[in-house]
Amino acid sequence: MDPHPEPEQPLPRYVCASANPDKVAEIAALLDGLVELLPRPAEVPDVVEDADTLVGNARLKATAICAATGMPAVSDDTGLEVDALGGEPGVYTARFAGEGCSYADNRAKMLRVLDGVPPQKRTARFRTVAMVVWPDGREVAVEGVCEGLIAETELGTRGFGYDAVFIPADADGRSFSQMSEAEKNEISHRGRAFRALVAALR
Ligand code: IMP
Repeated sequence: MDPHPEPEQPLPRYVCASANPDKVAEIAALLDGLVELLPRPAEVPDVVEDADTLVGNARLKATAICAATGMPAVSDDTGLEVDALGGEPGVYTARFAGEGCSYADNRAKMLRVLDGVPPQKRTARFRTVAMVVWPDGREVAVEGVCEGLIAETELGTRGFGYDAVFIPADADGRSFSQMSEAEKNEISHRGRAFRALVAALR
């Protein structure tokens, strides 16, 4: 054993642009050992996500939190691209069924607009952009993609958003809602994006 071990360096502190505690915990776990991820301060207001690309929205969020805190900020933005809808809803995924709609409204609309579309034409993908913006203006942005199919009915009850209607290609036919969180993270768009972010930060 080394009789004079190096003193441990404190981890750099980054702040998470998301205010959703589940998301902060998931991202903190993915960045574990590399940075100390702080939650977004409660007094920083929500950013209006009105860019027309995922990276544009991720940058709006990270830049605002970075400016408000003076710390490097981590953000992400996700879209669901459905081939039968020409890649929609994409950047409008959260409000597919209209401003203020629920996750259930979005899933119901997705099943309705794809009614009668055969399984081989129900291909889709989740795409996540994960990024860091530093106070000096530097930034790094990476992507994670999860290919799959839109189911014909809701499958499973776990998770959130479109989980019950998305069947990832890299699994066994179960929807995200029918998987454990660990199984989902292994193949999900967000898991892949944050593992790519870790690789880019190392
Ligand atoms: P956000 O950019 O992470 O807020 O994601 C935008 C929208 O995409 C959310 O409101 C959800 O409807 C959907 N979404 C994002 N990630 C997932 C997921 O892992 N499963 C299901 N839906 C998701």
